[in-house]
Amino acid sequence: MAKNIKKGNGCPVYKKCGGCQLQNLTYDMQLKHKQVRCIKLLGRAGHVDEIIGMENPYNYRCKVQSAFATIRGNVTSGVFQSSTKRVVPVDNCMLEDKVASEIVLTLRKLLKSFKIKPYDMETGAGFMRYVQIRRGFYTGQVMVVLVTASEQFPSVTSFVNALIGRHPEITTVVQNVSKKSVNLVLGEKNITLYGDGYIEDTIDGCRFRISPKSFYQVNPQMTTLLYAKAIEFMGLTGSETVIDAYCGTGTIGILASRNAGRVIGVELNKDAVRDAKENARLNNCDNIEFFAGDAGEFMVEMASKGKKADVVIMDPPRAGSDIKFMRSVVKLNPERVVYVSCNPETLSHDLTYFGQNGYAAKKIQPYDLFPHTGHCECVVLLSREKADDYARVSVKTKDLKQV
Ligand code: SAH
Repeated sequence: MAKNIKKGNGCPVYKKCGGCQLQNLTYDMQLKHKQVRCIKLLGRAGHVDEIIGMENPYNYRCKVQSAFATIRGNVTSGVFQSSTKRVVPVDNCMLEDKVASEIVLTLRKLLKSFKIKPYDMETGAGFMRYVQIRRGFYTGQVMVVLVTASEQFPSVTSFVNALIGRHPEITTVVQNVSKKSVNLVLGEKNITLYGDGYIEDTIDGCRFRISPKSFYQVNPQMTTLLYAKAIEFMGLTGSETVIDAYCGTGTIGILASRNAGRVIGVELNKDAVRDAKENARLNNCDNIEFFAGDAGEFMVEMASKGKKADVVIMDPPRAGSDIKFMRSVVKLNPERVVYVSCNPETLSHDLTYFGQNGYAAKKIQPYDLFPHTGHCECVVLLSREKADDYARVSVKTKDLKQV
């Protein structure tokens, strides 16, 4: 682990940007800070293992979003601040993938030479809102999504040719038309300008399709470790029925399907479900099905029909799960629940519910998927306990001293 990285790191926009809340700490201290936070929030539910950090905690973000603006007559790009509706120019972000950062700088120059104006949130004038770039860490494929305020793209062919000419590593370019009043949100319409309109990446030998709108973890190196741990916690022997709830593009379920009897994935975002189905096909998985809908409602229906599952893997958004979902999990009575969480606060709340309803946290493993930021990812193994074992353990002071 990179213990000796010095604090400060010299980012010139550290204060203005606000993205790296922990950059004032050395990386070693950042990890300790996250470990203590996890113990405070989750130590009540079970022992928190030592956080796993990155060897090189820089340039790990394979999804980059950069908003365009005109400042003192110059085209610039950077972080959009919703409070001021202004863009803080960022020339070189230490978290972002280097290839993606270079493409953003090229786009600034191309906008200037093609006389294409950045969109102005205050006046509603201009065309180019922001760019989303995604790079497959293992495949090297690059998708550039140009988010525009209207559909008519002046000199589109020459613009795209100039971009590809400077960055032959780009495998697809998509125009997304967003008329939204908020920035950094994709609109409904995607127009593929070059390539297939999506990229692929691999995790542990499986291929995954990533479209502009689908969720895909931004730190693929750490995600590989996180998913491997989630699958280890599932304890699969080849015959189990697994529910992959909040499944996104089906990544965890598809990886698990290699060792399971049957996998059922459920996800709210229709685009992600379409990708998940395609991903199952790409990986020749015939023991997995995906359903579009609210995970809570889906589980209520399963429970009311008396269906059973041996393992539930859940990976909800930051807000955590909901009572409807968790109540149905308890009713389905799986032997194990594996909870992947990007928010220890909501995880803490949900673990309390599971604890009170017969599921004890046997393992809690934090991962630093987002170095220099305050965020922390955890994977938790919950096992069904006999009714007499429900008594909960209180926070162990020993745990608080472990870092
Ligand atoms: N397991 C996936 C995705 C996790 S992100 C992966 O690792 O890639 C959380 C996912 O939950 C997102 O894809 C989001 O669209 C989905 N989601 C949010 N609310 C949901 C709900 N109520 N029901 C089902 N899915 C939901």
